[in-house]
Amino acid sequence: MKTPCMILLLLFVIGFILWIIPLLIGRRKLIKKGVQETLLTFDDGPSEVTEELLNVLDQCQCRACFFLLGEEMVKRREVVQKILNHGHAVGIHGYSHKHPLKMFFWDQKKDLEKAYQVFLDQGIPVSYYRAPHGAYTWASLFFCKKHDLDIVHWTGLVGDWKLEQEETLLQRLLDLSGPGHVLVLHDGSKGTANPLCKIRIPHLVLRLHEALKDTSAPLGRWEE
Ligand SMILES: [Zn+2]
Repeated sequence: MKTPCMILLLLFVIGFILWIIPLLIGRRKLIKKGVQETLLTFDDGPSEVTEELLNVLDQCQCRACFFLLGEEMVKRREVVQKILNHGHAVGIHGYSHKHPLKMFFWDQKKDLEKAYQVFLDQGIPVSYYRAPHGAYTWASLFFCKKHDLDIVHWTGLVGDWKLEQEETLLQRLLDLSGPGHVLVLHDGSKGTANPLCKIRIPHLVLRLHEALKDTSAPLGRWEE
C-alpha cells in the first residue's frame, strides 16, 4: 500500500477510535442495581406540558429524573422549581440541544458550561448529565469530570417523539420495563420530529402506571 493511503487509513482509524470511546463510555447500559422498580426519566423540558406531567406522576406516586435544557429553564424558572418541589431529581441535558457530534469541541464546551451556569443561577445543585441525542463526546466527558456529574444514559428508548399509535408506545414501554430499568420519555419538543407528540405523554405515563402497578416492577421513585 502506498504511503499516502496508509496515512489516510491511519488517520481514519485514529478518528474512529476517538469518536467511539466517549460514545461507548457514555452509553454503557445503566440498570440501577438494588432497585426493584422501573424508573422514568424525561428529557428536553421544562415545557408547557411539565405541570400536567407532575400531577400525573403524583397520582402514580412516582418520582422521576428530569434532564433539563438551559434555554428552556430560563424561560420557565417557576416550572423548574415545581419539579423540585414535587420531589423529582434533575440533571443537565445541555443548553441548546444542538447535536454534540455536529459541534466543535469548544462550542460544545461553551454550551455545557452555559447550561451549568443556569443551574448555578437558579440555585439548583445538580449531579447528573445526559447528552442530547445520547451522543457523548470528549467535551461531555471532560465536563462531567470537572463538575463531578454522573452520566445517566437509558436502558429503554421508545420513540415517543414520533407519530405512532399510543398502543405501540405503551407496549414498547412495557417490554422495556423491569427492576432498575431506566426509561426515557420526552417533556418537550427539542430535537423531536413533531412538537405535538409531547401532548400525549402524561396520558401515556398514566397508562403505563396502570399496566405496571401490580407487577414485580411498578413505576418507582428516583433516589439520589
Ligand atoms: Zn434531548
